[in-house]
Amino acid sequence: MCQPGGPDPRHRRAPGDDGARSSSPPATIDARCNALGVHDAQEPVNPYTVCKAAGVARRILGDENTMQAFAYSRPASVTAAAAAAAENAKIIAGGQSLLPSMRLGLAAPEALIDLSAIAELKGITAAGDTVRIGAMTTHAEVAASAAVRQAIPALAELAGHIGDRQVRHRGTLGGSVANNDPAACYPAAVLGLGATVHTNRRDIAADDFFLGLYTTALAEDELITAVSFPVPARAGWQKCKQPASRFSLVGVFVSQGPQGTRVAVTGAGAGGVFRVPALEAALAADWSAAACLGVTVAADNLNTDLHASAAYRAALIPVLAGRAVG
Ligand SMILES: Cc1cc2nc3c(=O)[nH]c(=O)nc-3n(C[C@H](O)[C@H](O)[C@H](O)COP(=O)(O)OP(=O)(O)OC[C@H]3O[C@@H](n4cnc5c(N)ncnc54)[C@H](O)[C@@H]3O)c2cc1C
Repeated sequence: MCQPGGPDPRHRRAPGDDGARSSSPPATIDARCNALGVHDAQEPVNPYTVCKAAGVARRILGDENTMQAFAYSRPASVTAAAAAAAENAKIIAGGQSLLPSMRLGLAAPEALIDLSAIAELKGITAAGDTVRIGAMTTHAEVAASAAVRQAIPALAELAGHIGDRQVRHRGTLGGSVANNDPAACYPAAVLGLGATVHTNRRDIAADDFFLGLYTTALAEDELITAVSFPVPARAGWQKCKQPASRFSLVGVFVSQGPQGTRVAVTGAGAGGVFRVPALEAALAADWSAAACLGVTVAADNLNTDLHASAAYRAALIPVLAGRAVG
């Protein structure tokens, strides 16, 4: 599926390397990390390397029990949840990103504020030229929604291919957008459609929301309540998925509508989701796959990791944009 020119030859195994781990214990921590499959220090930080490094550190240190004790509350309103938010407290939505982070010792909140009892955060409303989706709406609900499928089929398609069935039935729109994982799918739709993120305090335009890896414009104690997506004249989504996690190795969302012509890319950027002005200009002039293939995307500032090089990701972007156009 992800073949601008075949697999990156840098990731093929050397002759005689069957990928099996050595049974004899390596002498140094560096050697042990290499034997366990952690890439070298040149590899940029991304969700896979962070989780892998944390998991390996636990195995090296023999610490299999990093989950810390925490207080738990389940408020019934946004106001009560905001009031409970405090330093060292964390909101929990579907828990699909937060709980693995806690399990790996990457997060150790003293309190969890569970949003699952707040009815006002759930549901989908399509009115006029906008689809508004509550923060606690699950990926499965978005994928199955007749309103979304009719107004923005590409958004339903995106939601329907996040992770696996379990992740889609627990994970939420608000959690995905707040987390801003650099390989997450929803940030590409939010940016690629020019959506508005609603919080308990304000409305934030997509262009102002995503600030970098796992970083957004949200204040520590600010809650996403919903996201409003303008209905485009046309839109499409394509991702080349990392086969183990199904996160985007590269994902591209394209749209044309009230917010202009937009192309947003996830999975590739060293700073997380980003727009591609050259592709937007090409598609504004000619909405076609051929127009995308005429654009070259620079590999500067793109990720290289064990799954794909920056050059490979750069080559995928116009290809996937072209496929998303249809
Ligand atoms: C095996 C696996 C595969 C996955 N594959 C994909 C994939 O292909 N594509 C993809 O996009 N994602 C993927 N995910 C991630 C998944 O989509 C998560 O659902 C999502 O990242 C987080 O949503 P959540 O509701 O579980 O949030 P949580 O894990 O509960 O929270 C995540 C973060 O967001 C904060 N937060 C949650 N809700 C709010 C809110 N309303 N306001 C403010 N802050 C909030 C939390 O405090 C926390 O910091 C995968 C996850 C797993 C475990």
